[in-house]
Amino acid sequence: MKNLIVQKYGGSSVATPERILAVAKRIASYKKKKHRIVVVVSALGDTTDNLIELAHRVTSQPSEREVDMLISTGEQVSIALLAMALHKFGVDAISFTGAQVGIMTDSRHTKAKVLDINAERIRRELRKDKVVIVAGFQGVDTRQNITTLGRGGSDLTAVALAKVLSAATCEIYTDVNGVYTADPRIVAEARLIPYISYDEMFELASLGAQVMQARSIEVAKKFHVPLHIRSSFSSQEGTMISKETKALEAVVVSGIALKKDEAKVTLCDIPDRPGIAAKIFDAISKAGINVDMIVQNVGRTAKADMSFTVARTELGKTMPAIKKIAKALKAPKVLFDDDIAKISVIGIGMRSHSGVAATMFKALASKKINIEMISTSEIKISCIVARKHAEEAARVLHKAFGLDVGGKKIKKK
Ligand code: ASP
Ligand code: MG
Repeated sequence: MKNLIVQKYGGSSVATPERILAVAKRIASYKKKKHRIVVVVSALGDTTDNLIELAHRVTSQPSEREVDMLISTGEQVSIALLAMALHKFGVDAISFTGAQVGIMTDSRHTKAKVLDINAERIRRELRKDKVVIVAGFQGVDTRQNITTLGRGGSDLTAVALAKVLSAATCEIYTDVNGVYTADPRIVAEARLIPYISYDEMFELASLGAQVMQARSIEVAKKFHVPLHIRSSFSSQEGTMISKETKALEAVVVSGIALKKDEAKVTLCDIPDRPGIAAKIFDAISKAGINVDMIVQNVGRTAKADMSFTVARTELGKTMPAIKKIAKALKAPKVLFDDDIAKISVIGIGMRSHSGVAATMFKALASKKINIEMISTSEIKISCIVARKHAEEAARVLHKAFGLDVGGKKIKKK
């Protein structure tokens, strides 16, 4: 649709009645500029967290269908309030739940995938010149069960609607000015990144930057949805996320990400022969646990040590599964460490530039920070370090890769 923008406002942007009114004012000013607008909103402030906590006060194992029924209410509150605020400013607006605007998903409660959107209802209201407000994070399956799209899922709602409605742009409003070269609360020298590629943004989001849900960036890339991450508290432009360009590729490292919510598990003295890793990770996957990094050390004996990382919240599920398999392998020594952090450097320029790993390791060594595990891909290098060193690691790497304010960015030759 012509002149259409999709705007998504996160929980912090609508946390109080005053902020909801401020968001309504912003939408009203866009409306005056003759845009058609679809707005996606998250639940107010920490509502979703609070609802989940409430469920756990009733039972430690709530049914996932009922969790979705519960947590989808958060967004229903915010869409109604935002519609009322727009009415107050004389803007014709109407709010809808995900089900009402045909956001069809599969039935995997709390992590459903969007299958299809029947946007006819939205189009009809847009033609009547209304601002259409859609509840983020929720959909409905073929049997009319309410589903949710995973934490942070309002971003996905926005991206999916932008795609289906062929919006000119999808604006993601949050409480920071955009994407930074590192978390400014940790690295004072961090700078706003004006342009970044989908791939880099996806890695940043997966590896700890909290501005946008990683999955929604994948979807945006797949369907070429132009994204603009910006602040709902200012009119300053934020970060544009787009296809790769020569200019974007010229910078070797674009950002540093830090993740503090992982834990490391080590199995000692496992037999060094074919099929052992398969057995271990088969047991883990059957327990429904996602593994991130894996490292194996083979000594000169016939024994090996194997370490891997999982989300810290999954450690409780991982340990019993891994102790069982360790016992079966006659290697009952299992260690864990949840005082770790993952520090990563990310950049598409890395693909064709050597020496990035060496620069990273040298910088960490200069602060006597020990590296416990390493993993690399085409556009990132991640290291596990002790959590107490994590923030210092972020600062030293930021500097080493020339990302500090006034620093000389490392460019490809
Ligand atoms: N309210 C949901 C959450 O907190 C969805 C979102 O914020 O995007 O995860
Ligand atoms: Mg939220």
